[in-house]
Amino acid sequence: MITVTRDTFPLARSFTISRGSKTEARVLTVHIRRDGVAGRGECVPYARYGETLESVTAQIEALPPDISREALQTALPPGAARNAVDCALWDLAAKAQGRRVWELAGLPRPGPVPIAYTLSLDTPETMREQAALHAHRPLLKIKLGTADDMPRLEAVRQGAPKSRLIIDANEGWTAEVYAELAPHLVALGVVLVEQPLPAGQDDILARMQRPLPVCADESCHDRHSLAGLKGKYDAVNIKLDKTGGLTEALATRQLAREMGFTLMVERSRQLTVTQMVALRLRFQRQPSLATHSVVGTTTQA
Ligand SMILES: [Mg+2]
Repeated sequence: MITVTRDTFPLARSFTISRGSKTEARVLTVHIRRDGVAGRGECVPYARYGETLESVTAQIEALPPDISREALQTALPPGAARNAVDCALWDLAAKAQGRRVWELAGLPRPGPVPIAYTLSLDTPETMREQAALHAHRPLLKIKLGTADDMPRLEAVRQGAPKSRLIIDANEGWTAEVYAELAPHLVALGVVLVEQPLPAGQDDILARMQRPLPVCADESCHDRHSLAGLKGKYDAVNIKLDKTGGLTEALATRQLAREMGFTLMVERSRQLTVTQMVALRLRFQRQPSLATHSVVGTTTQA
């Protein structure tokens, strides 16, 4: 039997990116029960990719209750619904065999992972305060993506002079804005810029200088995205809600490595289950990055 439950978790503070703000995390949890064993998976439907809580719930509830993980890969497209079910099936298989998911997947035993802490887009002054509050963290991911980001960037650097910085524009810049900002990003010690231009405008990146590594997020969903990113991006952001689960995330990671991309593994506002699964994809060698976008949910993972 496959069941879906819905939970809403208020965020400790509102979280803003170039596309808008969120004050709560709305999470779907899938439980699959077979032969007295229960597996659990989670997802966060994302409007950017045309998903709602209702559409994703309907996708999950339409699946045959005895679906296999293999059949799932073609029964649903890459996205949140397949992620929650895929992870629940991994969890179910691991519990049924009394083993760990990483053992079933043939992965090394998980260890500590460097994490980038994400700061919300805000006024320069608030971003300076937030950066100062987290200045002890070695790696910060900063949400930008407006036409006037230079004061924000400088404020963050003042607040956290020693942290390594990743900038995520969430498709918010034009080629002109990015070209003007890029030298300043380098001068301020930014180590990576994520999705500077809208997905669909990736070809522009092939013609621009890339003075610092550029990471694809909204332009990278699963392994089928990768061929189109070559020569335009240096890194790819892998999220389980985009790949549609751990199964495809592992395949995406494998191909991305073979193609020479740096890897960033991210979970977005999910709670413990997805974080644990995402961290199994963690970077086992430099240079890769793991990030999370939680500003502090009431239920901290
Ligand atoms: Mg991103």
